Amino acid sequence: MSQSLLLSQGKLEAFLTCQRRFYLRSLRRLPWPAAPLGDESEEALARGQQFHRVMERHFLGLDIAPEEIDDGRVQHWWQAFRTSNLALPSGQRLPEHGLTVPLGGHLLLGRFDLLVVGESDGRPFAHVFDWKTGRARPENKLRQDWQTRLYLALLAEGDGALWAQGGNGRSLPPDRVSMTYWYAAEPDTPRTIQYTSAWHTQNWADIQAIVAQIDAALATDAWPLTDNLAACSDCAYQVYCGRQNAGRKSTLFKEADELAEADLIWLEPQTP
Ligand code: SF4
Repeated sequence: MSQSLLLSQGKLEAFLTCQRRFYLRSLRRLPWPAAPLGDESEEALARGQQFHRVMERHFLGLDIAPEEIDDGRVQHWWQAFRTSNLALPSGQRLPEHGLTVPLGGHLLLGRFDLLVVGESDGRPFAHVFDWKTGRARPENKLRQDWQTRLYLALLAEGDGALWAQGGNGRSLPPDRVSMTYWYAAEPDTPRTIQYTSAWHTQNWADIQAIVAQIDAALATDAWPLTDNLAACSDCAYQVYCGRQNAGRKSTLFKEADELAEADLIWLEPQTP
Protein backbone atom coordinates (compact mmCIF):
# COMPACT_ATOMS: atom_id res chain seq x y z
CA MET A 1 0.00 0.00 0.00
CA SER A 2 1.51 3.33 -1.05
CA GLN A 3 -0.30 6.48 -0.19
CA SER A 4 0.55 10.07 0.39
CA LEU A 5 -1.18 11.26 3.52
CA LEU A 6 -1.99 14.61 5.02
CA LEU A 7 -0.84 14.20 8.60
CA SER A 8 -2.33 16.58 11.10
CA GLN A 9 -1.92 16.63 14.85
CA GLY A 10 -5.09 14.56 15.16
CA LYS A 11 -3.78 11.92 12.76
CA LEU A 12 -0.52 11.55 14.66
CA GLU A 13 -2.43 11.26 17.93
CA ALA A 14 -4.78 8.70 16.40
CA PHE A 15 -1.85 6.57 15.17
CA LEU A 16 -0.15 6.71 18.56
CA THR A 17 -3.41 5.88 20.35
CA CYS A 18 -4.45 3.01 18.10
CA GLN A 19 -3.17 2.06 14.67
CA ARG A 20 -6.52 0.52 13.75
CA ARG A 21 -8.24 3.82 14.55
CA PHE A 22 -5.79 5.62 12.27
CA TYR A 23 -6.46 3.09 9.53
CA LEU A 24 -10.24 3.27 9.81
CA ARG A 25 -10.25 7.04 9.90
CA SER A 26 -7.47 8.06 7.53
CA LEU A 27 -7.30 5.19 5.04
CA ARG A 28 -10.71 3.56 5.07
CA ARG A 29 -12.14 7.04 5.60
CA LEU A 30 -14.98 5.76 7.67
CA PRO A 31 -16.85 8.76 8.95
CA TRP A 32 -16.32 9.26 12.66
CA PRO A 33 -19.81 8.25 13.81
CA ALA A 34 -21.44 11.07 15.67
CA ALA A 35 -21.49 9.96 19.25
CA PRO A 36 -24.33 11.64 21.06
CA LEU A 37 -22.67 14.55 22.80
CA GLY A 38 -25.49 15.62 25.04
CA ASP A 39 -27.05 19.06 25.03
CA GLU A 40 -24.41 20.63 27.26
CA SER A 41 -21.47 19.51 25.14
CA GLU A 42 -23.23 20.37 21.89
CA GLU A 43 -23.75 23.90 23.19
CA ALA A 44 -20.15 24.17 24.38
CA LEU A 45 -18.91 23.05 20.98
CA ALA A 46 -21.15 25.50 19.12
CA ARG A 47 -19.98 28.33 21.38
CA GLY A 48 -16.35 27.43 20.79
CA GLN A 49 -16.89 27.47 17.04
CA GLN A 50 -18.68 30.80 17.22
CA PHE A 51 -15.87 32.27 19.29
CA HIS A 52 -13.29 31.13 16.75
CA ARG A 53 -15.30 32.78 13.96
CA VAL A 54 -15.43 36.01 15.97
CA MET A 55 -11.67 35.92 16.52
CA GLU A 56 -11.03 35.22 12.85
CA ARG A 57 -13.17 38.18 11.81
CA HIS A 58 -11.42 40.39 14.34
CA PHE A 59 -7.97 39.51 13.00
CA LEU A 60 -9.18 39.98 9.45
CA GLY A 61 -9.79 43.58 10.49
CA LEU A 62 -13.58 43.42 10.61
CA ASP A 63 -15.50 45.25 13.29
CA ILE A 64 -17.26 43.08 15.85
CA ALA A 65 -20.33 44.65 17.40
CA PRO A 66 -21.16 42.91 20.69
CA GLU A 67 -24.83 42.73 19.71
CA GLU A 68 -23.83 40.62 16.69
CA ILE A 69 -22.85 37.84 19.08
CA ASP A 70 -26.06 36.19 20.07
CA ASP A 71 -24.63 33.89 22.73
CA GLY A 72 -24.04 35.51 26.10
CA ARG A 73 -21.10 33.26 26.96
CA VAL A 74 -19.35 34.03 23.68
CA GLN A 75 -19.97 37.72 24.28
CA HIS A 76 -18.32 37.31 27.68
CA TRP A 77 -15.29 35.55 26.15
CA TRP A 78 -14.99 38.26 23.52
CA GLN A 79 -15.02 40.96 26.19
CA ALA A 80 -12.52 38.95 28.22
CA PHE A 81 -10.23 38.84 25.22
CA ARG A 82 -10.63 42.55 24.53
CA THR A 83 -9.75 43.48 28.10
CA SER A 84 -7.11 40.82 28.68
CA ASN A 85 -3.43 41.55 28.93
CA LEU A 86 -2.57 39.25 26.02
CA ALA A 87 0.39 40.84 24.27
CA LEU A 88 0.44 40.36 20.51
CA PRO A 89 3.75 41.02 18.77
CA SER A 90 3.91 43.49 15.93
CA GLY A 91 3.94 41.82 12.57
CA GLN A 92 1.78 40.34 9.86
CA ARG A 93 -1.31 38.72 11.36
CA LEU A 94 -2.59 35.63 9.59
CA PRO A 95 -5.81 34.21 11.09
CA GLU A 96 -6.80 30.60 10.37
CA HIS A 97 -3.55 30.06 8.53
CA GLY A 98 -2.60 26.61 7.22
CA LEU A 99 0.95 25.38 6.70
CA THR A 100 2.08 22.09 5.16
CA VAL A 101 5.58 20.67 5.27
CA PRO A 102 6.63 17.59 3.29
CA LEU A 103 8.09 14.69 5.19
CA GLY A 104 8.93 11.53 3.30
CA GLY A 105 6.07 10.97 0.89
CA HIS A 106 3.57 12.76 3.11
CA LEU A 107 2.56 16.24 4.13
CA LEU A 108 2.47 17.42 7.72
CA LEU A 109 -0.29 19.94 8.29
CA GLY A 110 -0.97 22.61 10.86
CA ARG A 111 -3.86 25.04 10.94
CA PHE A 112 -3.21 27.94 13.24
CA ASP A 113 -5.92 30.06 14.87
CA LEU A 114 -3.60 33.03 14.44
CA LEU A 115 -0.06 33.24 13.15
CA VAL A 116 1.99 36.40 13.59
CA VAL A 117 5.19 36.71 11.57
CA GLY A 118 7.54 39.63 11.66
CA GLU A 119 10.87 40.90 12.87
CA SER A 120 12.17 41.81 16.27
CA ASP A 121 15.72 42.83 17.12
CA GLY A 122 16.49 42.59 13.43
CA ARG A 123 15.62 38.89 13.28
CA PRO A 124 12.49 37.17 11.92
CA PHE A 125 10.09 35.39 14.23
CA ALA A 126 6.87 33.38 14.06
CA HIS A 127 4.39 33.22 16.91
CA VAL A 128 1.27 31.08 16.79
CA PHE A 129 -1.77 31.76 19.01
CA ASP A 130 -4.42 29.23 19.87
CA TRP A 131 -7.79 30.15 21.37
CA LYS A 132 -9.22 27.73 23.89
CA THR A 133 -12.69 27.82 25.38
CA GLY A 134 -12.45 24.68 27.47
CA ARG A 135 -10.75 23.87 30.74
CA ALA A 136 -7.41 25.61 31.13
CA ARG A 137 -4.38 23.32 31.19
CA PRO A 138 -0.96 23.83 32.73
CA GLU A 139 2.00 24.73 30.57
CA ASN A 140 3.91 21.54 31.33
CA LYS A 141 1.03 19.48 29.91
CA LEU A 142 0.68 21.74 26.90
CA ARG A 143 4.35 21.32 26.07
CA GLN A 144 3.76 17.59 25.64
CA ASP A 145 0.69 17.98 23.42
CA TRP A 146 1.07 17.01 19.81
CA GLN A 147 -0.64 20.24 18.84
CA THR A 148 2.21 22.16 20.44
CA ARG A 149 4.94 19.85 19.21
CA LEU A 150 3.70 19.67 15.62
CA TYR A 151 2.93 23.38 15.29
CA LEU A 152 6.33 24.44 16.60
CA ALA A 153 8.12 21.91 14.39
CA LEU A 154 6.16 23.01 11.33
CA LEU A 155 7.10 26.62 11.88
CA ALA A 156 10.76 25.73 12.25
CA GLU A 157 10.82 23.37 9.27
CA GLY A 158 8.40 25.28 7.06
CA ASP A 159 10.22 28.55 7.15
CA GLY A 160 10.65 28.63 3.37
CA ALA A 161 6.92 28.58 2.68
CA LEU A 162 6.28 30.90 5.58
CA TRP A 163 8.81 33.52 4.68
CA ALA A 164 7.90 33.45 1.03
CA GLN A 165 4.88 35.39 2.29
CA GLY A 166 6.90 38.21 3.70
CA GLY A 167 10.11 37.02 5.24
CA ASN A 168 12.47 37.76 2.37
CA GLY A 169 13.51 34.11 2.17
CA ARG A 170 15.35 34.20 5.48
CA SER A 171 15.60 31.17 7.69
CA LEU A 172 13.75 30.87 10.97
CA PRO A 173 15.71 29.18 13.74
CA PRO A 174 13.68 27.32 16.38
CA ASP A 175 14.49 29.87 19.05
CA ARG A 176 12.50 32.41 16.99
CA VAL A 177 9.36 30.27 17.13
CA SER A 178 6.82 30.35 19.95
CA MET A 179 3.24 29.44 20.70
CA THR A 180 0.69 30.95 23.05
CA TYR A 181 -2.45 29.28 24.32
CA TRP A 182 -5.07 31.80 25.40
CA TYR A 183 -7.83 30.41 27.58
CA ALA A 184 -11.13 32.25 27.84
CA ALA A 185 -11.40 30.83 31.35
CA GLU A 186 -8.12 32.48 32.38
CA PRO A 187 -7.78 35.43 30.03
CA ASP A 188 -4.96 37.12 31.92
CA THR A 189 -2.82 33.98 32.19
CA PRO A 190 -1.81 33.02 28.67
CA ARG A 191 0.59 30.09 28.38
CA THR A 192 3.50 30.94 26.10
CA ILE A 193 5.86 28.19 25.05
CA GLN A 194 9.24 29.06 23.58
CA TYR A 195 10.80 26.63 21.12
CA THR A 196 14.53 25.85 21.18
CA SER A 197 17.03 24.22 18.83
CA ALA A 198 17.67 21.35 21.23
CA TRP A 199 13.95 20.67 21.60
CA HIS A 200 13.45 20.85 17.84
CA THR A 201 16.20 18.31 17.18
CA GLN A 202 14.49 15.79 19.48
CA ASN A 203 10.96 16.76 18.49
CA TRP A 204 11.61 16.51 14.76
CA ALA A 205 13.33 13.15 15.22
CA ASP A 206 10.25 11.92 17.11
CA ILE A 207 7.94 13.12 14.34
CA GLN A 208 10.14 11.46 11.71
CA ALA A 209 10.04 8.23 13.71
CA ILE A 210 6.23 8.27 13.85
CA VAL A 211 6.01 8.88 10.11
CA ALA A 212 8.45 6.00 9.57
CA GLN A 213 6.16 3.78 11.65
CA ILE A 214 3.20 4.88 9.53
CA ASP A 215 5.18 4.00 6.40
CA ALA A 216 6.01 0.58 7.84
CA ALA A 217 2.35 -0.03 8.62
CA LEU A 218 1.39 1.09 5.11
CA ALA A 219 3.97 -1.29 3.62
CA THR A 220 2.66 -4.29 5.51
CA ASP A 221 -0.95 -3.13 5.68
CA ALA A 222 -0.95 -4.18 9.33
CA TRP A 223 -3.09 -2.07 11.65
CA PRO A 224 -3.31 -3.72 15.06
CA LEU A 225 -6.00 -2.92 17.58
CA THR A 226 -4.77 -1.18 20.68
CA ASP A 227 -4.33 -3.22 23.85
CA ASN A 228 -5.50 -0.23 25.84
CA LEU A 229 -9.23 -0.72 26.32
CA ALA A 230 -9.45 2.70 27.93
CA ALA A 231 -8.74 4.16 24.48
CA CYS A 232 -11.64 2.17 23.08
CA SER A 233 -14.05 3.64 25.60
CA ASP A 234 -14.10 7.00 23.82
CA CYS A 235 -13.69 5.60 20.31
CA ALA A 236 -16.58 5.72 17.89
CA TYR A 237 -15.32 2.66 15.98
CA GLN A 238 -16.01 0.11 18.70
CA VAL A 239 -18.46 -1.81 16.57
CA TYR A 240 -15.85 -2.29 13.82
CA CYS A 241 -13.47 -3.88 16.30
CA GLY A 242 -15.82 -5.85 18.50
CA ARG A 243 -14.82 -3.63 21.40
CA GLN A 244 -18.32 -2.65 22.54
CA ASN A 245 -17.45 -4.18 25.91
CA ALA A 246 -15.01 -1.33 26.50
CA GLY A 247 -17.99 0.75 27.54
CA ARG A 248 -18.58 4.39 26.87
CA LYS A 249 -16.75 7.13 28.64
CA SER A 250 -18.99 9.95 29.70
CA THR A 251 -19.03 12.74 27.19
CA LEU A 252 -15.84 14.72 26.93
CA PHE A 253 -15.67 18.36 26.03
CA LYS A 254 -14.15 18.90 22.60
CA GLU A 255 -12.43 22.12 21.65
CA ALA A 256 -13.70 23.64 18.41
CA ASP A 257 -10.37 23.03 16.65
CA GLU A 258 -10.50 19.34 17.58
CA LEU A 259 -13.78 19.07 15.70
CA ALA A 260 -12.29 20.88 12.71
CA GLU A 261 -9.68 18.12 12.57
CA ALA A 262 -12.44 15.70 11.64
CA ASP A 263 -13.04 17.61 8.42
CA LEU A 264 -9.48 17.04 7.27
CA ILE A 265 -10.01 13.40 6.37
CA TRP A 266 -11.72 14.52 3.19
CA LEU A 267 -8.82 16.71 2.12
CA GLU A 268 -6.03 14.17 1.92
CA PRO A 269 -3.88 13.91 -1.18
CA GLN A 270 -4.18 10.53 -2.82
CA THR A 271 -1.65 8.39 -4.62
CA PRO A 272 -3.19 6.26 -7.35
S1 SF4 B 1 -12.38 0.65 19.22
FE1 SF4 B 1 -10.35 0.46 20.18
S2 SF4 B 1 -9.26 -0.97 18.84
FE2 SF4 B 1 -11.00 -0.19 17.66
S3 SF4 B 1 -10.27 1.59 16.54
FE3 SF4 B 1 -11.13 2.33 18.45
S4 SF4 B 1 -9.41 2.47 19.87
FE4 SF4 B 1 -8.79 1.14 18.19
